[in-house]
Amino acid sequence: MHPSRAHTAPRTHRFLALLWPALALLACLVLWGAAVLRAQAEQQRAFDQAVKQADAYAEAYEQYITRSVAQMDQITMQLKHSWEHAHSRALIEDMRRDGMFTDAAFVNVGVVGRDGSIRSSSRPLGRAADLSGARFFLQHRDSNSTALRIGTPPPELEGAQGTILFSRRLDNADDEFDGVLLMAVDAAYFTSFVSAPTLGPGSLLALVGIDNGLRIEQDGDGAVRTHRAGSLLPANADRWPVARGVQLVDGVQGAGGFADGRARVLGWRRSGAYPLVALVALSHEAALAGAEAYWIDSRNQTLVASIVLLALAAVATILSLRAAARAREQDAVQRAYRTATESGNDGFYMVAPVRDRKGQMVDFRIVDCNERGAFFYSMTREELVGSLVSQVDRGVDARELIANYRQAMTAGFHQEDRRMPDDNRLNIRWGHRRLVRVGDGLAVTLQDISQRKEHEAQLARLANEDSLTGLPNRHWFLNFVPPALAHAKANNQEAALLFIDLDEFKQVNDSHGHAVGDRLLKAAATRLLTQLRPSDRVARFGGDEFIVLLSPFDSEHQVAAVAARIIQAFGKPFTIAEEQHMIGASVGISVFPRDGSDAATLIRHSDIAMYAGKNEGKGQYRFFDPSQSSSLKTRAQLRQRLLEAIEKKQFVLHYQPRVDTRSGRLLSMEALLRWEHPQLGMIRPDEFIPLAEASGLIVPIGAIVIDLACAQLAAWRGQGPQGSGFAVPVSINVSPKQFLRGGVQRELADALLRHGVAPGLLEVEITESAMMGDQEEILAELAAIRALGIKLHVDDFGTGYSSLSQLQRMKMDVLKVDRSFTAELGRSKEGQVFFQAIVSMAHALGMEVVAEGVETREQLQILRALGCNEVQGYLVARPMAAEAIGPLLARRYLFEDALAA
Ligand code: C2E
Ligand code: CA
Ligand code: CA
Repeated sequence: MHPSRAHTAPRTHRFLALLWPALALLACLVLWGAAVLRAQAEQQRAFDQAVKQADAYAEAYEQYITRSVAQMDQITMQLKHSWEHAHSRALIEDMRRDGMFTDAAFVNVGVVGRDGSIRSSSRPLGRAADLSGARFFLQHRDSNSTALRIGTPPPELEGAQGTILFSRRLDNADDEFDGVLLMAVDAAYFTSFVSAPTLGPGSLLALVGIDNGLRIEQDGDGAVRTHRAGSLLPANADRWPVARGVQLVDGVQGAGGFADGRARVLGWRRSGAYPLVALVALSHEAALAGAEAYWIDSRNQTLVASIVLLALAAVATILSLRAAARAREQDAVQRAYRTATESGNDGFYMVAPVRDRKGQMVDFRIVDCNERGAFFYSMTREELVGSLVSQVDRGVDARELIANYRQAMTAGFHQEDRRMPDDNRLNIRWGHRRLVRVGDGLAVTLQDISQRKEHEAQLARLANEDSLTGLPNRHWFLNFVPPALAHAKANNQEAALLFIDLDEFKQVNDSHGHAVGDRLLKAAATRLLTQLRPSDRVARFGGDEFIVLLSPFDSEHQVAAVAARIIQAFGKPFTIAEEQHMIGASVGISVFPRDGSDAATLIRHSDIAMYAGKNEGKGQYRFFDPSQSSSLKTRAQLRQRLLEAIEKKQFVLHYQPRVDTRSGRLLSMEALLRWEHPQLGMIRPDEFIPLAEASGLIVPIGAIVIDLACAQLAAWRGQGPQGSGFAVPVSINVSPKQFLRGGVQRELADALLRHGVAPGLLEVEITESAMMGDQEEILAELAAIRALGIKLHVDDFGTGYSSLSQLQRMKMDVLKVDRSFTAELGRSKEGQVFFQAIVSMAHALGMEVVAEGVETREQLQILRALGCNEVQGYLVARPMAAEAIGPLLARRYLFEDALAA
């Protein structure tokens, strides 16, 4: 995936997560706005309608009222006229009899006399009433107007409740007050203009008289009220500023509002002819009921729509947030992966297969890589991404690579080490590729393993090549021989193994140093190669030994000829540093399959054959013969047996006493190693110590000696009578090789501790040659041993080149003069002089002197005269087993036997 795209995805999702609710809110706002506006418009329309209606009703009502009252006007006018001219006191009764005033609406029609009493009436029973105090009566009496008066009936007028009272003044001929004509008409007559349901619930129809408090109203239930008390009309309903109008009267209880607190649309008209106002009040609520219903409807719809919209938005937001979280996670993973791959030392590539029309993977395209991956190809990331593997890798390599990629696509995984082609472009020589299928592609890691491979190659070379001569080494040879033998066997052929040992190399090396020795070996290797065919295999087997494999060969004569040729070639001197060296060579031959079927046997047998030849005189070759291997003369066998001996603890120590030169008192002993072989019997150290030293086996053997000596010391101490000092110090021989290896002091200390032996009972003998060259490690080791309380003896003194002062500096305690000097005593004057010098100088430097190898009484006598401290030799005692030492320890003085003889 492209990085920029990877980063935008989560941002887009986050934006959408905010956008969805915003859009939904906006849509809701619009919906609600529209709903409210339409509801308002609807309300306005309904209101306008109500206003129009109220106005129209008010107009119609006013006309109706005016007409009705005009009728009353007419009737009363006629009655007045009739009364004034007829003077019949029963006028009304007569007219009623004639069928007038029978309508229920005419509640009471009558004439009131000048005195206020009823003179004539349509209701005969009500005559007793006295109306002289009634307001209408007083008004007519006091005013000479003959106009119609419209008012409410006084309480005195019986049965006239709920009526409108029309009245007129009656005059006599002199135009003096002659009474009042009254007519009480049912108020409902004036409100029956329209039935209550027509105007709707909560509506009100009213007739108000200006100035005289007349009020008639009919509410939506059809109830008619004529009294102020209980009236719903606003208090100021009779004081309208203009003749006509429509007004919304708010739903407030109080002066300006309807008594029931309902809002109404009030239309009014003042009658042009009478002081009356017609009022029609339509319930505001009822008028707007339709609009209200419409609003509730549309509000519910809008509410549902809003809920749906918001729910959808919520879902969309949740989805977007989830997608954002997922994208973020993916982004983080990708970034972490990228960081990891960028910071790593490995090249990393994502490749996708390129398919042909049949769907076969023909190539792979690099879709992504890290900088390191591009660096391997000397490219930048931008250059490499998008390339095809066939372009980038080219040639055979690309074909193999694509085949591997294809395999990885099928198997899911593939890895390989690959030598990269020799191409200047490449910054990698050896690569380790790991291919892992990821979706429809591969994740490829390329690790630079050039260094490792080089190291391996170098190790292989080191392992198989002898660094000095450049010949293959023992390791290579041991690997090479088995397949060569298998091949020979398969072809029914024979093979010959020649073991070549240089006869005098050791001497030259010892006397002329390693530098000369090394040059000699190189020259020898070169000379050997010139004697062989290219098909013959040669290896340096170790030290001054070489092995040659002749495979196949024609006849043993031919093999013998090769051996002879080699010996002859080595018979000529080598010239190294202008000096000639004769070294010579001995050759042993084993033949496959006759002398052995495997490499180890063949080598051992050729070695035995070589030694057998050497024993009979150097510079010869020998074919292997089974009789040769019966002795320990072969080193290979000896070494093998030594290993066994170490494992099976076939070693014992013999002890040779040292006595005081004068008294013969047993002072100390030397521990001498013996190898007790179950078949070969007791083997003396001279036969195996040199090989043990050369092979390093002296180290474990030395450890055994230390342990055996300490164990024996502990045993003796236990045998002796308490406090008798039964045990005497025992000296052990420690090889220079052990010192070179180090750790002798530790071994000694451990053994002493293990066996509970006092350090003073142990002594160490070390040859002069071991101390040559002032090797710091050896000197430090010796000092440490001495610090333990162990005495140090210089063994075989006189055979090396160490000076006495050097030995003194090294704090050696005892000088053991080599037996070759002892042997000279009594034979030559010089020997005695030499010995004399050693003794006096050693004493001067604080060292004691032991004479080794004392065999004769004469030697003892001379040594006594020379002041030698101790003597050791066959004259006193031979080395003997530990059991034999017991009696000597008890006896203490050993000269009796020796000198008695
Ligand atoms: P060395 O240290 O000089 O030991 C003395 C050798 O002289 C012994 O030989 C002993 O038997 C022999 N000898 C003693 N008295 C006489 C005598 O009067 N005349 C003659 N001709 N020889 C006498 P051995 O036991 O065969 O030891 C030979 C050498 O082997 C020793 O020489 C020593 O260098 C080495 N060796 C012996 N035991 C050990 C050991 O435990 N460790 C090491 N590293 N070397 C040992
Ligand atoms: Ca010794
Ligand atoms: Ca010695």
